[in-house]
Amino acid sequence: MKILVVGGGGREHALTWKLSQSPRVSKVFCAPGNGGICESVECVSIDATDIKGLLRFAETKEVDLTVVGPEAPLSMGIVDLFEEKGLKVFGADRRAAEIESSKAFSKNLMKKYRIPTAWYQVFDSADEAIRYIHEMGAPIVVKADGLAAGKGVILCPTVAEAEEAVKMIMVDRLFGDAGKRVVIEEFLVGEEASFLAFTDGETVLPMASSQDHKPAYDDDLGPNTGGMGAYSPAPVITDELHQRIMDEVMIPTVRGMAAEGRLYKGILYAGLMIGPDGPKVLEFNARFGDPEAQPIFPRMEGDLLPILEACMDGTLSRHTLTWKKEAAVCVVLASGGYPGRYKKGIPIEGLDTAADQEGVIVFHAGTALEEKRIVTAGGRVLGVTALGPTIREAIERAYRAVDMISFEGAHCRRDIGRKALQREEKA
Ligand code: AMP
Repeated sequence: MKILVVGGGGREHALTWKLSQSPRVSKVFCAPGNGGICESVECVSIDATDIKGLLRFAETKEVDLTVVGPEAPLSMGIVDLFEEKGLKVFGADRRAAEIESSKAFSKNLMKKYRIPTAWYQVFDSADEAIRYIHEMGAPIVVKADGLAAGKGVILCPTVAEAEEAVKMIMVDRLFGDAGKRVVIEEFLVGEEASFLAFTDGETVLPMASSQDHKPAYDDDLGPNTGGMGAYSPAPVITDELHQRIMDEVMIPTVRGMAAEGRLYKGILYAGLMIGPDGPKVLEFNARFGDPEAQPIFPRMEGDLLPILEACMDGTLSRHTLTWKKEAAVCVVLASGGYPGRYKKGIPIEGLDTAADQEGVIVFHAGTALEEKRIVTAGGRVLGVTALGPTIREAIERAYRAVDMISFEGAHCRRDIGRKALQREEKA
C-alpha cells in the first residue's frame, strides 16, 4: 500500500516511522515532511494546508491511504474533499474537527452532554466579556474562539490582566479572526494529562496515557508553547481515572457528536485537568498530539495500519491495542528565542551519535536538509525520544542523547518527566 502522511512536524515523523513498519506498506510519502523524515521516506513539497494540491498528488500517485497530522487541513475539510473524490483518508471531517477549531462549539457540546469542564461563557462583544470578568473575578481564563496555534489561551491571575487579554484578542486582533469571539472560563487547578483515543464514531479505543509540558521553561514557567516534551504513561491517570475518563468524557463525547449529526471518525484527544473533583476537559483536539505522538508510538505494539482502517470502516470494536511496559520520554530541543522569534538555517551536530544510543529515537520537527546537512527550520527542532524500563531510565537516556546534540541557541526543559517521578516516589 502507498501511504501519504500530511504534515511536517515531530508528530508526522513519529507517524511515518510507525507506518513504515507495517508489513502491508510498500511506500510512504510525506507532505511537506522535514529534514529527518526525508531520510527514510519520500518528502513532497506540498504545504499541509494546500488541500487541493494534496488531492492532485494523491490521485496522480494512486495513494491508497492519506493520514492527516495537523489540525489546519482537517478544519479546512481535507477529509470531506478526499472522500468526495472516493479517496481513503484518515482523520476527522470538517464538521467533526470543529470540536477543536471552535472552542465555543466544543464548550457548548460539553454543556449539552454533561461532559465535565470549566464553567464558561462565550462573547462576541469585548464590553460584555469584560463585564462578565468583573462579575466572576480572578483568576480567570480568556481564550480566542478559533485556531491560534496553541497560543490563544491567556491565564489571567487578576481582573486587570483579563481585561487586557480581551482587548488584545478582540480589539487588537493578536490572533486575527480567531479572536472575533472569546470564551471566558473558570481557572482550573490540578495536574494536566492528555488522553487520546481512536474512534470510528461508535467504539472508542484508548491509547496509552501521556503528559505534555506546555510552558517554555522548567517548573512550568514562561510563555506557553506547542509543547516542550511529553512522556507516556502518565501515572496521574490511575486505572480508576482511566475508566472515569472513558465513561465521563470520551464515550459521551463520541456519542454526543453522533447525536449532533457529526459522526466522529479519527483521533479524539482530550486535554484534561485532573483536579480534586476528578477529570475536567480543558480542550479537545481532533488529531494526534504533538509532542505526545512521539512517546506514544514507540510504546505501541503491532501494526497501526489496521487500526486506522477500522476507524474509517466502522469496525474498531474488533480491535484491541497493547502497549510496551517500558516508559517513553520525549524532550523537545527548540531554537534560541522560541516561542518568540528565532533564527533558521543553523547546522545541527551530533544527531547520529544520539540516535545510536540504546532506546533512543530522534524525531525531527523543525529541520531541513540543506546541502546534505541537517539545519534548523522551525521553533521546535527535534523531539529526542527514549524508551526505558522505568520512567527514570527513559528520562536519563533521553537527556544523555539530548546532550550529544548541539546547535547554536538550542534550549530545552530539563524537567520533562519529573512529575511522573515524583508520583512514583510518593507511591
Ligand atoms: P488549551 O489550548 O485550551 O488546552 O490551553 C492551553 C493550556 O492553557 C492548557 O494546556 C492549560 O495549561 C492552560 N489552560 C487552559 N484552560 C485552562 C483553565 N480553564 N484553567 C487552567 N489552565 C488552563
